[in-house]
Formats: sequence, structure tokens, C-alpha cells
Amino acid sequence: FLTMGIESSCDETSVALLLEGRQVLSNVISSQIKVHQVFGGVVPEIASRHHLENINQVTEEALNQAGVTLDQVDLIGVTCGPGLVGALLIGLASAKAYAFAKDIPLVGVHHIQGHISANYIEYPELEPPFMALVVSGGHTNIVEVRDYNGFQVLGGTRDDAVGEAFDKVARVLGLGYPGGPRIDKLAREGNPQAVPFKRVFLEKDSYDFSFSGIKTGVLNYLNSEKQAGREVNQADVAASFQQAVLDVIVKKAVTAAKTMKKDKLVLAGGVAANSKLREMLEEQCRKNGIQLYRPAPVLCTDNAAMIACAAYYKYKGGFVSDLTLDAYPNLPLTALQE
Ligand code: ATP
Ligand code: MG
Ligand code: FE
Repeated sequence: FLTMGIESSCDETSVALLLEGRQVLSNVISSQIKVHQVFGGVVPEIASRHHLENINQVTEEALNQAGVTLDQVDLIGVTCGPGLVGALLIGLASAKAYAFAKDIPLVGVHHIQGHISANYIEYPELEPPFMALVVSGGHTNIVEVRDYNGFQVLGGTRDDAVGEAFDKVARVLGLGYPGGPRIDKLAREGNPQAVPFKRVFLEKDSYDFSFSGIKTGVLNYLNSEKQAGREVNQADVAASFQQAVLDVIVKKAVTAAKTMKKDKLVLAGGVAANSKLREMLEEQCRKNGIQLYRPAPVLCTDNAAMIACAAYYKYKGGFVSDLTLDAYPNLPLTALQE
């Protein structure tokens, strides 16, 4: 059973081919990072244009690398939200065209169900139920995954997503875009105890997050040091910011797994590529008898293999879309619960 996945929600144009839902034959990712770097962030209109220019070539390359033709494809999965509307529409138009032309079933996929599914690819033996920690550019959520298509959102961010906080703090530090990987790298040379940024845990027992305060905290710290004429150690600031954010995330994720009696914790989303997060969770999971799962970095950030995998399980669960499938730029995570 051959699934083709298409992802175009942000600044990666990606097409993948998967065998039996988990075996990656190809996962071609065309990143626009270089294009948007000069602007310090993703410019939606430019992203759409580049998706349009790239998608056919990326699809052809994915089919070639997999050594298959479109006629052999049994299912097409495509990200239908959330994301940039113009960007999503390019992937959708392409998916619908192939589905219509070749009479192949089509499944619209929630981008975050894709991120979680990246773990099924990395770990062929992994099966729900488990607890998932979703940490990406637009999301920070703790999700109880009851089944392949059964989710319960326990908590989420009330303001900025964690990846967004990394990117904004990186910009303030003048590290450029995308900031997450750069903070990760710089923090390795810094002292995480140097600056006591506030850890925001919110109400007791809450699985919600808030990261907008720490962004302001970093800005205020930099300004006050500048005013006092003191030189700032960038690596210390990066390490302290990262530690403050990760202390909260790790604590809440492990608490959720323990409270809900889950012995598996699954990491998902771009920030899951963070080396310190992996390290901290590894230690805490070991101490608490929890098995930790985290995809390889290339499967953490946006890619079509994870979308194909999610589509496969939706299809097996009896779900199919039709050609009226649309883009849902603000598709909420709670849509997964329905
Ligand atoms: P969403 O998935 O919520 O729609 P997105 O698709 O833009 O958002 P992803 O591609 O999942 O987000 O992840 C990108 C985010 O991950 C960026 O904010 C980036 O800075 C962050 N990121 C990537 N690598 C690392 C890292 N090593 N450390 C911290 N953050 C990282
Ligand atoms: Mg991206
Ligand atoms: Fe993503």
C-alpha cells in the first residue's frame, strides 16, 4: 500500500512516498529558509509563490527517488491546516489534481497529527496510547493520544508558542532566522544559571503554558545591561532563556504522563529537535520509568512523510476527504478531538 504525502503549510515544500504507512521510500524537502532569511521571517506571499514554483519538481523527485509512478499510488494525504492559507492551497490544489486525474483516494491531514505521526515512522513498534508533547513554531501542547485517530488536548499555550519564543528571542539577540537551532547551538557555550528568567507554571495542575513574558524578560534584561554599560554574554542569555523555558515544558510533560498513567512520552514538532530538551527529557523519563520517543531531527521539522503516515492511519480508520477539501489556516488542535 503506497501513500503519497504532500506538505506546504509554511516554508517547506515536501512530498514523500511511504510503504504500508511507516516505511519511507522518499521524503523530499525543499526548504525556503534562504529565501526568507533576508526578511527575518517567513513572508506569506513569497512562500506561496515558491511552493507553486517547486511543487511539481519536488513531486517528480519524490516519485523518482522512491522508484514508483503515480499510477502505483493508493492514497494521497495532504496538509489542510493549520498554516499559511496561500501556502496550504498550493499543496491542496496539487493533491486534488493528482487524486482527480488518477482516481486516487484523498485524505486531508491536520498538520499537528502529522508531527505526532513522525514517531510512527521513527519507531515501527510504537502504538498508541501515549502522552505527546507537541512543541513547534505555532504550537505548544500536551496531548493524550488514545488511538491513531483519538486525541484529548490537555493543555496549550495561552500566548506564544515555544518555537515562536525561540525565534523572537533569537531575533532580539541578533542571531537571525530561524532562531531555534541557533539558540540551541549558542546555549551549549553558555551558563544556564547566569540569568534567573522567570519560570511560568500558571495555576497548579494546569497543563497550559505562557511564553510571552520571557520574551519581554529577555528584552528587559538586555536593555538594563546596556543602560548599565555592561557587556552581555550572549551565550549565557541564550542558555538561561532556553533552560527557563525547558524547565517548565519538561516538568509539565512528565507530570502529565505520570498523572494519566502513560508509560510512553512522545515528542513532536520542530522544537523536538532541540538537543537540550532531548537531554532533559531523557533524564526525567528515565527517573520516572517512562519510555521516551523522539523523531530524528529531519522528521521533527516540517516534512511530507509525517503527513503521509497520518493520512494512512486516517484512511485505515475509515476517513476520506473529497475534492471539496479546503485549506483551514486556523484549524484548531481541538479539531483532532472530533
Ligand atoms: P506548526 O508546526 O506549529 O504549524 P511550524 O510548522 O512553523 O509550526 P515546525 O516546522 O514544526 O513549526 O518547527 C519550526 C520551529 O522549530 C521554529 O520555531 C524553529 O525555531 C524551531 N526549532 C527547530 N530546531 C530547533 C532547535 N534545535 N531548538 C529549538 N527550536 C528549534
Ligand atoms: Mg519551516
Ligand atoms: Fe510544523
